[in-house]
Amino acid sequence: MPLGKRAGERCVQLLPDMRCAIFGQPGRPAFCASLRPTQEMCGASREEALAFLARLETATKP
Ligand code: SF4
Repeated sequence: MPLGKRAGERCVQLLPDMRCAIFGQPGRPAFCASLRPTQEMCGASREEALAFLARLETATKP
């Protein structure tokens, strides 16, 4: 995604089963490779992780 990815926009590399199509490859964005997930970020379920992301998007909205 040469123009970047907006908040809430699905990454073109995200597979239908929610895996990254370029995981472990050199072309994977440095930001993705450097991300270290935390318990707070992931929560206990997909729903909790998505709620955390929604809070981040609201807090960092321009
Ligand atoms: S890890 Fe990065 S490149 Fe892979 S699907 Fe997620 S946002 Fe896209």
